[in-house]
Amino acid sequence: MKEFELIERYFQQPALSWRDSIIDTTIGDDCAVLDIPKDLQLCISMDTLVEDIHFPKDANPYDIAIRALCVTLSDLAAMGAKPIGFTLALTLPSASEKWLKSFSDGLIEIAQQYKCPLMGGDTTRGPLLVISIQVHGVVNKGGALKRTGAQVGDKVYVSGAMGDGAGALPLVLENPTLKNELTERYHKPYPQIEFGQKLLGVASACLDVSDGLIQDLNHICKKSTVGMVIDADKIPLSNALLQQYSNSQALEYALSGGDDYQLAYTAKHCDEGFEIGEVVFGSAVSVSGFSIKNTGFQHF
Ligand code: ADP
Ligand code: MG
Repeated sequence: MKEFELIERYFQQPALSWRDSIIDTTIGDDCAVLDIPKDLQLCISMDTLVEDIHFPKDANPYDIAIRALCVTLSDLAAMGAKPIGFTLALTLPSASEKWLKSFSDGLIEIAQQYKCPLMGGDTTRGPLLVISIQVHGVVNKGGALKRTGAQVGDKVYVSGAMGDGAGALPLVLENPTLKNELTERYHKPYPQIEFGQKLLGVASACLDVSDGLIQDLNHICKKSTVGMVIDADKIPLSNALLQQYSNSQALEYALSGGDDYQLAYTAKHCDEGFEIGEVVFGSAVSVSGFSIKNTGFQHF
């Protein structure tokens, strides 16, 4: 199959690459052309996933696509942005139609769910499967949820149960196609897009937890020049995680494991989510009620 046929058949499908009021030109020209309304700001984020580093090579292509698009959309959720579309750079060792069909079906599922069409990309042959996705979203001018606004006296919150992604990882590595409640949380880390938008005007700082709760909250501390005290007993843990692991192992995953893609944020007061601690004078996160071994994932 030629490159253009491949793009047309799998990426230019109307279910995946539709136009709308912002997207004037989509796949098939040299650039996508966007009309960004004057009162909005464009938010852009990119993630690269490399086989056997970010996902098992033999995982189901449908699952790989879902995970790749979900984790990238999670950055838009963290800013409170509304998705408008994504681009995809795909490096493939070979062009298997079966693989591409399943991969594009996964993209369609998430693109439809989050109203985020594919707008363009690049397709190349290479020795490893590498997927780079860039998402584009919009927020009202000046409204984006940044990492810089946490204030002493604010409370610290998370949007949902922590630790599932890290708890699922050993199971996924052992059997990439195993399906249960916990492994689903790894394969489908649904981005908190609606939740992020509910935090606009409420949260003083926000991010998505990808590398570990403590490590990621430390980014807010650094950017906002504050400290935090987190109460380990208040961290929400799922039943799926607690059925698989002891309480202390579950907490270890919740505090230091990556791959959750829940939002962690600060606010004077917020009715949404779970309060887990407070912002204090200082420069880093401390945890009360539990002593952790590790603070988070290091890429290098
Ligand atoms: P160019 O030669 O101008 O770089 P390409 O031949 O790479 O263009 O791509 C042709 C069209 O197909 C472009 O509109 C590009 O955005 C789109 N495209 C290529 N690869 C992908 C992909 N993986 N996903 C979505 N669109 C793609
Ligand atoms: Mg090209």
